[in-house]
Amino acid sequence: MIQERNAVKKGAQHFKGVGSHALLVTGKHSAVASGAQKDVTDVLDSLGIPYDVFSQVEENPSLDTVEKGAYFGLEKGADFIIGIGGGSPLDASKAISLLMGTKESTGKDLFNKDIPMKGLFLIAIPTTCGTGSEVTPYAILSLHEQKTKKGMSQRLFPNLAFLDATYLESAPPSLIQYTAVDTLGHLLESYINPHASYYSNMCVEYGMGLWAKKKEHLLTGDFTKEDYEHFLTASSMAGMAISHTGTSLPHAMSYYLTYEKGVPHGKAVGTFLASYVKACPDKKWIGKVEKMLGFSSQGEMKDFIERILGRLSIPEVEGLDCAKALLSNHEKLANCPFHLTKEMAVSMYKESLDFVG
Ligand code: NAP
Ligand code: FE
Repeated sequence: MIQERNAVKKGAQHFKGVGSHALLVTGKHSAVASGAQKDVTDVLDSLGIPYDVFSQVEENPSLDTVEKGAYFGLEKGADFIIGIGGGSPLDASKAISLLMGTKESTGKDLFNKDIPMKGLFLIAIPTTCGTGSEVTPYAILSLHEQKTKKGMSQRLFPNLAFLDATYLESAPPSLIQYTAVDTLGHLLESYINPHASYYSNMCVEYGMGLWAKKKEHLLTGDFTKEDYEHFLTASSMAGMAISHTGTSLPHAMSYYLTYEKGVPHGKAVGTFLASYVKACPDKKWIGKVEKMLGFSSQGEMKDFIERILGRLSIPEVEGLDCAKALLSNHEKLANCPFHLTKEMAVSMYKESLDFVG
């Protein structure tokens, strides 16, 4: 990982020898708006490396899109991938890398860990400060057949990541707010997690320190260059932490709001964070977390998150169905350190959302 201002241009030599034809994987506007795409294409031009751009990655990318991207890349003869953008293009670039690197594979194989898949060389360049996808092996895709979002079973770490906080400057304040809350989710869900280790906790504690130092600016939406640097670093630290532990209940709970209601990822995750912390029976541990984040009580953290995100409402019947579904999400329950009862699941939804109807 290379992190500094002008990281791409200063690190131009790292693009040498990794392949002969690049596929850039981006969303519709952000790669260009942030200036990241121009930095990359300037470097590729200076090295005489041809490239093509697949710029069709939507928010919460679908399996159909990544299959389309892989087909496009193979047709163009690309042999390495550069993902530029928020978590959506970065996750899509991992899936595309795997599909292109394992030519006989299909999109379904991304969700079958028993099928060996190999990715093409992958460079990741984030333009948001939330997912940490540039340092995680995960990719979350929308599966329209199943009407939900799901993490790929295949794992792929990017080979190289360039972090330049200037790319965050083109983002609207709400995007920084939501993605910084996603980072908070990764930090909390990695810490309150049965798979937490000395190493993941070290990343969490450092990330929480950075986040706490700048958190007041999330209330106003006025960000300095130093704020962007702090939130981007916290995001990568949190990404390294969840690479060890995985995410837990708030991420599982968020997917319905994002898929069915179009709520941005960080906002959907943040909605459930305070109730996850409250449900954790180890109060001493929770006191430590609040202290690291600079909150004097659990109520203060809940209010703080709600001041940034507002509060969402949902028909009661949908909330109760979600609680039922959470109890059968064995993958995410395995990342929760306490036994979740039906009553606890329902009250987590009731505390986090306004039930209507
Ligand atoms: P995103 O979905 O990548 O982007 C959200 C919006 O922000 C898009 O409209 C995007 O534009 C725009 N945008 C991004 N950077 C910008 C910039 N610098 N300036 C202006 N606009 C910008 O947002 P995200 O929250 O980073 O990623 C969310 C996705 O990541 C979800 O699918 C989530 O499930 C996944 N995720 C992955 C992991 C992991 O470990 N891999 C962890 C958590 C979440 P464009 O469409 O033009 O790009
Ligand atoms: Fe997330």
